[in-house]
Order: sequence, then structure tokens, then C-alpha cells
Amino acid sequence: MADRNISVWIKRDDLIHPLLQGNKWRKMKFNLQQAIESQKDTLLTFGGAYSNHIAATAAAGQLFGLKTIGIIRGEPTATPSLTLQQAAANGMQLHFMERSHYRLKDEPGRIEELHYRFGDFYYLPEGGTNALALPGCEELVGEIDVPFDVMCCAAGTGGTASGLRNALHANQRLLVFPALKGEGSLPQLIANATPHAVANIEFHREYHFGGYAKITDELFQFIQYIFVHHRILLDPVYTSKMLYGVYDLILQNYFEPGTRIIAVHSGGLQGWCGFHQEWEMLKNGPAKRNIQR
Ligand SMILES: *Cc1c(COP(=O)(O)O)cnc(C)c1O
Repeated sequence: MADRNISVWIKRDDLIHPLLQGNKWRKMKFNLQQAIESQKDTLLTFGGAYSNHIAATAAAGQLFGLKTIGIIRGEPTATPSLTLQQAAANGMQLHFMERSHYRLKDEPGRIEELHYRFGDFYYLPEGGTNALALPGCEELVGEIDVPFDVMCCAAGTGGTASGLRNALHANQRLLVFPALKGEGSLPQLIANATPHAVANIEFHREYHFGGYAKITDELFQFIQYIFVHHRILLDPVYTSKMLYGVYDLILQNYFEPGTRIIAVHSGGLQGWCGFHQEWEMLKNGPAKRNIQR
């Protein structure tokens, strides 16, 4: 964006590994270390049928020689999602849990119940966010070797944003783009998780495109544009909405001239498993999307 002298760099965490990439790897790194050091041979976690975290946990099990158990929200479908097929191919044992029961997964006693049923395991919460997830995300910031003023990231649970915020300096700002509509508790969750953080934080809630895992023609065209012009593939659930927001804020002259921005590509490319038609269109070159959801 030459006329406003704004620079945008993209931190390519999508390139870490084809199956274990982005913030899901960052959040898992120290958890895996802990699991292996405490001699656990099984990881157990929760997620939906298209979850990036389920996919990453299965891949981690495959890559590090651990068994994996995935508790999947809802009923099994006649044809499992591609995400679940890939997780099973990576050795994950899948167990479906009725939604009303799944919702209570964080109630006291539930983990004990699961130990009774599945034996010993290392527990990863849904989405992969726990205390050990933050230092992995903090490491990302130390890898950036250009000076910058603003870091931008997508958010679900806010674990990634918390880790990033912890590692930023007082003269830097973190802009958070929630992928969920109306996640009112996110600022408090992040504030609680980062009591010693010095960097300012801002939330930009206008870029959810209708809500979690919803895509519009405009968003799809933006993904095509970035792919065609920069050869960078964004994911349809998180990073595309964040980067759209960054471009939009630039066009609104939101940033001071000269601002140097790092946008974090937090991976999630397996998320395309839930968007077959769009994926085909993306591969076949620029086209107008006309899919009703
Ligand atoms: C899961 C995910 C997020 C959300 O991360 P949180 O730490 O839960 O906020 C962001 N981007 C991508 C690509 C993801 O897969």
C-alpha cells in the first residue's frame, strides 16, 4: 500500500508442516514435550467434525508416536468429514458425543470419567488452549527479524492472541480479529491470561462474515485475490477474515502513515476440507462464487 506508506508482512506459520501447522503446532509444542516427559503414550482431546485442532492432534500423534483419542461433538454422519477421515488415517480413535453431553465437557468429574473409560492419557482441551499453549505462541514473535509496530491475529479461544500479547513490547499493539460472532468474553479471557503483558490490545469484531465458518462471496473473492497476486493460500475460517480486516482498516486510513504491520498466518489450511465447492473453484482459477448456504 505505497501511497499510505503502510507495510504488511505475513508471518507464514502455515509453512511449518503440511498437517501440523500454524497456531495448532505452536499451542501443542510444550504440551507434547510435557506429555512425553511425563511418559504418557496417549493424547485425548475434544473437537467438532471440521476442527483444525482435531486434525493437528491426530497428526501430532502420528509424527511423535503417541496414540490419540478424539471426542467428536455430535452424532456420526454416514460419510465422515474429510477432517475426520484424515484424523482416522493418522491413527486417531474417534468417539462421538451427543451435543448436550459434549457441552458439559468442562464440568468437574468429566475428565475422571474419561480416565475410567480410556485409561491414562494426556489431556488437551478443545481448541488446544491451556497454560502450556501460550509459551509456544510467544516463540513466534521472537522469530520475526524486521521491526514492526502492529501485530494482527485471528482468534477463536484467544489462546494464540494471549501468547502473542505476552511477547510484544510496550510500544507495539496487538489487533485481534475474532472469527466468532459476539464472543463477548474474549477480552476478559485474554486479559486474565496475560496479567503481565505490556503491549496494547484492540479487538476488531466487524470481520466475522456472518459467524464462525461462514463464508461470503466477498470473502471468497478476497481469498482468490490474495492467492492469485501473492501466491499465499489463506484458510476460510480464520486467517482470511483477519487479513480482509487488515486490508479494510488500511483503506479506511485507520493506521498512521508508516505503520509496519505483521499479520500472522496461523495455518488452518485443512479447514478447506469443509468447503469442497469453494476449494474446487479456487483451484480452477478466478471465478464468481454462487453457492447458497
Ligand atoms: C484455531 C485457529 C485459530 C484460533 O486460535 P485461538 O488460539 O483458539 O484463538 C486461529 N487461526 C487458525 C488458522 C486456527 O486454526
